[in-house]
Amino acid sequence: MINENYKNLHDTYFFSLIAKKVNAFIAENPEREIIRLGIGDVTRPLAPLVVSAMQKAVQEMGNKSTFKGYGEEQGYEFLRSALKEYYKKSKKADLSMAEIFISDGAKSDLGNILDLFSADARVLIPDPVYPVYVDTNLMAGRNIVYINGNSENSFLPVPDDSIQADIIYLCSPNNPTGAVYSREQLGLWVDYALKNQSIILYDNAYEIFINDQSLPSSIYQIPGAAECAIEVSSFSKTAGFTGTRCGYTIVPEALVRQGLSLNSMWLRRQTTKFNGVSYIVQRGAEAVFTEEGFSQVMENIQYYRENARILSKTLDDLGIWHTGGLHAPYIWMKCPDRMGSWDFFDYLLSRFGIVTTPGAGFGAMGNEYMRLSSFGERSAVEKAEDLLKNGLKEVYQ
Ligand SMILES: *Cc1c(COP(=O)(O)O)cnc(C)c1O
Repeated sequence: MINENYKNLHDTYFFSLIAKKVNAFIAENPEREIIRLGIGDVTRPLAPLVVSAMQKAVQEMGNKSTFKGYGEEQGYEFLRSALKEYYKKSKKADLSMAEIFISDGAKSDLGNILDLFSADARVLIPDPVYPVYVDTNLMAGRNIVYINGNSENSFLPVPDDSIQADIIYLCSPNNPTGAVYSREQLGLWVDYALKNQSIILYDNAYEIFINDQSLPSSIYQIPGAAECAIEVSSFSKTAGFTGTRCGYTIVPEALVRQGLSLNSMWLRRQTTKFNGVSYIVQRGAEAVFTEEGFSQVMENIQYYRENARILSKTLDDLGIWHTGGLHAPYIWMKCPDRMGSWDFFDYLLSRFGIVTTPGAGFGAMGNEYMRLSSFGERSAVEKAEDLLKNGLKEVYQ
């Protein structure tokens, strides 16, 4: 009677084990300082303009003449047109209003979008990976094939003809590796998807961190992508909305399979199972795209970028292999020889009080790597810099 596929899920043991180890360390060493480089959440507050837009919206909701009930079904037009403008201006990508769907975040849509696919669709997922892609498909009983990221391909695997897949997950800039696909590499994926009639689910949650116009900040910058890709994105990392909740998904009208429009299917799915994001939050999200709001948001991004730059430079100076950091808030570093990511985690914690995220939690290909996050405090990053500069040489011989 119940969905036994849940038996196939890995337990959530990974993040709880990290918390357990950190808490045990604190209990045993109450005087030691903890330096948090494992944070997967933003820490900078909302931009002042976002806050005032939401305050104004709250006032409107409390007023009979401006009160709003259920919102527009794909999200308010003011927010969708702000997004349309943003795509046009900053990405040179033309979207129609009907292609933009406002959501309560990328995670929900990444899971919900699977409603559009049959149970026997073949799924391709890069390893290492954001665990949501894996778990949502395991819950639905789908078989998953992995494509390996490694230091040879700089954790940016590209397809070959031996791969058979209907659904392909790509995340760029990537969590956990911070790696970013070039236009040429994404072009290989789009060509593969067009040739094989597969659909790319493109997680673009970290696009705001891209610091180089020649790198793609939307899959729709790649010719042909509108016929094979759905882009899922979010205000979470862009504007610190992890606790406020707002995202968006783009389903092109040109995306048609077996005579069915995926855009129409998604509209049907959303209007049946979802009643939208709060008006207050959508007004806050709209403020991100005003000139002043955007520059306030970018100040926070600059703060994280500088953290990432300091961490990358520290590893560069030590000659430690790593990727990410330049166009992403994450740095993915190689562990010392003969040390797995859990051993290295224990070492960094006990020796320096530094908390990181073991790569093993993101898939088998992450076993010998560590994720460092730039979402923490500058002071923590600077302390880590000093400690690692002097302390890591002994294990990286
Ligand atoms: C943080 C993150 C998201 C954003 O999820 P929300 O539900 O919008 O908060 C999406 N994808 C990846 C890979 C992330 O790391």
